[in-house]
Amino acid sequence: MPLKTGNEFVESLRNLNLEVYIFGKREENTVDHPMVVPSMNSVKITYDLAHDPAYEDLMTAKSHITGNKINRFTHIHQSADDLVKKIKMQRLLGQKTASCFQRCVGMDALNAVYSTTFDMDNKLGTGYFDKLKEFLVYVQDNDLTVDGAMTDPKGDRSCAPSKQEDPDLFLRVVEKREDGIVVRGAKAHQTGIVNSHEILVMPTMSMKEDDKDYAVCFAVPTDTKGIKIIYGRQASDTRKLEGGEIDTGNPKFGGHEALVVFEDVFVPNNRVFMCGEYAFSGTLVERFAGFHRQSYGGCKVGVGDVLIGAASLMSDYNGAAAASHVKDKIIEMIHLNETLYSCGIACSAEGRPTAAGSYEIDMLLANVCKQNVTRFPYEIARLAEDISGGIFVTMPSEQDLNSPEVGAYIRKYYAGAKGVPVEHRIKVARLVENMTLGAAAVGYRTESMHGAGSPQAQRIMISRQSDLEAKKNLVKELLDIE
Ligand code: SF4
Ligand code: FE
Repeated sequence: MPLKTGNEFVESLRNLNLEVYIFGKREENTVDHPMVVPSMNSVKITYDLAHDPAYEDLMTAKSHITGNKINRFTHIHQSADDLVKKIKMQRLLGQKTASCFQRCVGMDALNAVYSTTFDMDNKLGTGYFDKLKEFLVYVQDNDLTVDGAMTDPKGDRSCAPSKQEDPDLFLRVVEKREDGIVVRGAKAHQTGIVNSHEILVMPTMSMKEDDKDYAVCFAVPTDTKGIKIIYGRQASDTRKLEGGEIDTGNPKFGGHEALVVFEDVFVPNNRVFMCGEYAFSGTLVERFAGFHRQSYGGCKVGVGDVLIGAASLMSDYNGAAAASHVKDKIIEMIHLNETLYSCGIACSAEGRPTAAGSYEIDMLLANVCKQNVTRFPYEIARLAEDISGGIFVTMPSEQDLNSPEVGAYIRKYYAGAKGVPVEHRIKVARLVENMTLGAAAVGYRTESMHGAGSPQAQRIMISRQSDLEAKKNLVKELLDIE
């Protein structure tokens, strides 16, 4: 049975022998590490909800290869309806975790590599598609979490990969052997790597012939020799080490990113899905980015739902819920959030079949979706901060709340609306802090800007996809201009 439970997922992570560094120290056991556990819980829930009959329709799908019931995160979209369900699943998980649940990058990478290897084989006779399908079935049958890895460190942005002073600043093939290849380099900002079984590496941008060593796509287990994971910091992250329940803002869930170094990592031939076919690196990047830009129309909306709920609760707890400007600000937040969702749904509903038979989003609408995401969550966060009041950034600690000397003062002076326990007000204020400025702000704010490509990348795609000439022709036709 391919569907793992959440607990089986956690146990499967224990069997990995990852090389992880946190605060400069090698950590053998990340499964129980307080810096990692909340992010692991966010992936764990993607397994648990697949067993819940209430969410089965969104969380599971039927494998088009084996016919088995699989987790949707390992599915290759077979219809526009699949694409819509993907967005709904992501909104649901954003609502449940108020953070990044990490598993989408692998789903998006698998879908992008699927159609690209098919096209590559057709044009070049390369034979990657069957290998990719074999890997896919392995992922589906074992219900694995795959980390999609695209972003290279990139060094001097004015230089192509092969023109960098240090050739490792883009991940590349350093040796070709009979049985496989050896790669070196790094992938930055790797979401969820410590909670992943496999890493699916793709090139970071379109490449020219000089850069063909950098046009490489492959998958390896995350504990392959030579892979070193250096855990990323987040604002207020060490609050997780304090052992409290309130000050992290979201004690149960979170996300993480890391720098992943590939120090001469061997990749066997059956796991290589591109090696030197530079003309297809741009296609792969565009497709992965398109799927991930779609994704944000789901996950960020679900997280936004929680932030709107938190702002609204704060207004209740502050005794300000009846003020007309507060009501109006909440309406504005909902309007912005649902606009994000509309684009996520629209680019999915307009999905089309690829030559490989899988379904792909409407590229223009997916890029518009992500462009909105680079802006609206900031405004939603601003309004949440406005409604919450300054308390969420100036409150004393949980230890003070529990202190025999000063705890009574906290309870007295942080009281809000009549009948509301002070702890409730403090808890929600801390959640607002977590989502707007703290650890979860990585996933909700800055990732909204830079994740799945920075704003300019979408503007280039919007310009390419929009067919401005057709719009000019509309005018000419209307006005009888030759
Ligand atoms: Fe999924 Fe969103 Fe996290 Fe990307 S940012 S992995 S789409 S939850
Ligand atoms: Fe992302």
